Amino acid sequence: MSLVIRNARIRTEQRTVEIFIESGDIKAIAPQLGDTGSPEIDAKGSLVLPGLFNMHFHADKCLLGEVMRPNVSGTLPEAINITNDFKRKYDPEEVAGRAIRAIEAGVKNGTTFFRLFADVGTIGGLRAARGLMLARERMRPYCDLQVVAFPQEGIVRDPGAAELLEEAIKEGCDIVGGLPWYEYTDEEARQHIDSCFDIAKRYDRDIHMLVDDTDDANSRSLEALALKTMREGFQGRVTASHCGAMATYNDVYAHKIIDMVATAEITISVNAHINLVCSARLDREPKRRGIARVKELLARGVNVICSQDDVNDPYYPFGKPDPLECAYMIAHVAQLTLPKELEQVIDMITVSSARAARVRDYGITPGCRADLVIVGAPSVHEALRLQPLRPHVFKNGREVAYATVTQSLRSM
Ligand SMILES: [Zn+2]
Repeated sequence: MSLVIRNARIRTEQRTVEIFIESGDIKAIAPQLGDTGSPEIDAKGSLVLPGLFNMHFHADKCLLGEVMRPNVSGTLPEAINITNDFKRKYDPEEVAGRAIRAIEAGVKNGTTFFRLFADVGTIGGLRAARGLMLARERMRPYCDLQVVAFPQEGIVRDPGAAELLEEAIKEGCDIVGGLPWYEYTDEEARQHIDSCFDIAKRYDRDIHMLVDDTDDANSRSLEALALKTMREGFQGRVTASHCGAMATYNDVYAHKIIDMVATAEITISVNAHINLVCSARLDREPKRRGIARVKELLARGVNVICSQDDVNDPYYPFGKPDPLECAYMIAHVAQLTLPKELEQVIDMITVSSARAARVRDYGITPGCRADLVIVGAPSVHEALRLQPLRPHVFKNGREVAYATVTQSLRSM
């Protein structure tokens, strides 16, 4: 099966190009390919990006906002309590059904890779993980999916969670999750990290932890995670989400931590939507924002990505989900507005995320897999500004989603 995309703009070329796809891969890119005899799609001068990533998505909790009681305090603790009420009754089929609805919406927006977080602990057992593994199976033709076994209630403070975490990995979860900052003490946070690495090493899995998601400047589990990553030789295999406490660290300590993160080759995922809503609820004015130091991380060469953590759940009431919206959000929050910075923002949902997930053959060059999205605007700048529909989305060279809506003014 082959396909040609004509009139495409790609980030590395000034003029439009044609992209020849065969057997799921990009075979050639040229200003004019000539007649290949293949079916053709006209990109109409739009930007074509490699498939977008959402590397941090709580798909087991998504759309609970449709049925839950309101989160009156707007805080993480109340969100956790509301979610627990549902988790006690989770059914894998029901979890899969909700997750698939949100994944389908993400695919329509050009997402071809999702990292799904499944709560694993003594409240919900393995039911969320089994639900997301069902969703992974059913959505496989449309996108790549990884399931993270995620100890949402902690490990030390939830006796039995470590065993369940290992069981989830044995049953087929892809990534070892973690939530060290949620433990009661620094010592127990380190034990939490040790447990996660123990499982990751024995089953040869990468690690993705939610770290220092608090306004407390004394929350320092990123330091412990970076140290452990270096000592265990896990450089390039660990992602840390949130790290919002970094915003409140003094500059000297923040500089040291950023240096450790760079040396440990840890990817930092900034999830601006949720942190702008949930952080600093106890602050009066000025309110902190709970966002990691993005510009300083980028300047030190750290791999920074942005993700859509939540989609209409007890933590966060919105979420389309759309990586381009996450990129738009991080451009605001991290004040990344210069042309070069807009490119960095698009990197976060494309190449930098692919690097974090260790996906090879990714990009728009011959030999790469043909996971592509036609964005519906001619440039990175216009894609971010307009947040347009995605006319065509491709996975492994096959069209998996399309959009056709037009808006026009009536003549007067
Ligand atoms: Zn999260």
